Order: sequence, then structure tokens, then C-alpha cells
Amino acid sequence: MKKIISLFLSAVMVCACLGGCGAKQEGNSSPENKETVENSNGTEKEVLVMATNANFPPYEYHEGDSIVGIDAEIAGKIAEELGMELKIEDMAFDSILPAVESGKANFGMAGMTVTEDRLKSVNFSTSYATGIQVVIVKEDSDIKSVDDLFAEGASHRVGVQINTTGDIYTSDDIEAKGLGTIERYNNGADAVQALITGKIDCVVIDNEPAKSFVAANKGLVILPTEYITEDYAICFSKKDTELLDKVNAALEKLIADGTVKSIIDKYIPAE
Ligand code: GLN
Repeated sequence: MKKIISLFLSAVMVCACLGGCGAKQEGNSSPENKETVENSNGTEKEVLVMATNANFPPYEYHEGDSIVGIDAEIAGKIAEELGMELKIEDMAFDSILPAVESGKANFGMAGMTVTEDRLKSVNFSTSYATGIQVVIVKEDSDIKSVDDLFAEGASHRVGVQINTTGDIYTSDDIEAKGLGTIERYNNGADAVQALITGKIDCVVIDNEPAKSFVAANKGLVILPTEYITEDYAICFSKKDTELLDKVNAALEKLIADGTVKSIIDKYIPAE
């Protein structure tokens, strides 16, 4: 199998002790009010609100009362670097950009791909991981390669997560060309469920969640050919360049000292 996550900076591997660092999910908060929490030692910490869609393993998913995963853990380390308290808000992927733009969240981190279009409404951090759009089908599917979706006369029902890059690409490459229909779901789990029950013929989604969904459901496979490779980064309101700069400094340090790589390796064991 191809190596799926490539990190750009190699540095001394610091085997930091990465304990389970699932952040607690709590109620609503408005970062515009600069919420603070009191520590056990009586000092105040500013709360850093992260918007995500916790249905995207291994980047973010529920484990008991916590949201865990690569993004949750990297965000926890960034908050630690900044002396802030991380709070994770779970929402539909589609709601993350509006939450960040309106200031309901300080940043969005959700295996989010940097795109030209998104750059018109938000700023992105340094990229911390690579994703690949892949296609999940049933084992006995007539779709054998990604190219089958674009073939002349093709007519497939394609499932995607609404407003993700999978949605954006297939809308152009398949729907707009009359090569099939796109069914848009609120999350990957719902799309995969629709594939299992035969409502759709395939799901276009990022490779790591795809692997998790295929491992959890018998009879599904990922096509060997890839759709497209993309960069994941953290998004911020255009108004908050101060936080963007602080997070970038922390993130770049965590990339350089090997922390980001060891978090990714913990969730995505080498193949
Ligand atoms: N990487 C994809 C995107 O940014 C999907 C992200 C997600 O579903 N969490 O659109």
C-alpha cells in the first residue's frame, strides 16, 4: 500500500509521551467574549474553541465522552504551547467555516483541505498532513477504478459529505458532465450507510476515514486508484491574524520537533 500521509519536515524524532489527550466537549461558548477557565492552582486560562466534525476517524471521532484523534491531539498540543485551554465543538462539516467566520469558534480543524475557494473566506495555517480523495465501493461493484466514474456513458449515484472537496470535485467532474448524480450527506458514516443499503454506488471521501469505514463494515473496498491528493490545514477568521500567527509558530515547532509526526504515526500505523 502507498504511504498515505507525508510530512514535509523531518527532524529529530522526539518520542514525546503522548498520553490520551481527548479534549472535553462542553456547551456553547463565544470566543469573542474571551472565555476563561480557572485552573486547580487558581490561575486563569483563555479558552481556545475548535470547530470540528467528529465523524472523521482517525482525525476526529468520539470515544466515550471525549473527542479524540489526530486533529484533537495536535490542537491539544498547540493549546498547551499557547497556555490556553482547548474546547472542541462538534458540528456538521458544513457549519465549520461559518462558525469560524462568525467568531463562534477560534479555528476550524477537521482534516480540512486548503482550497482556492475556501481561501476567499478564511485563512489557513501551515499544512500539517496530506490527504487523498479515494472511492469506496461494494466488493462486487462494477466500478473498478476511479476512471470508470468519468467514462463516457457512466451513470453512477455518488455519495459525498456535503461541501467537502469530494462534493466539490464530483460536482464538476461527474454531475456537471451528466455522468451521474451526487447524493450529499452530513457525514461520512451516513454516506457509507447509504452505500451499504444500496442507495448509492460509491462514496468519495478522504483515504484515512475511508480505511476506518471499510475496516468497520464487511463487503466494502477502496479502489486502488486515487482521485486527488490534498493538503490539510487549520482555518481561521480573516480578522484573527494574530491567532493564526501564534498557532503557526506553535504548529511549526511541533512539526520540527517530531510531535506532529508521532501523533500521526500513533493513529496511522505504518503499513
Ligand atoms: N478533506 C475534505 C475537505 O476538506 C473532507 C474533510 C472532512 O470531511 N472532515 O473537504
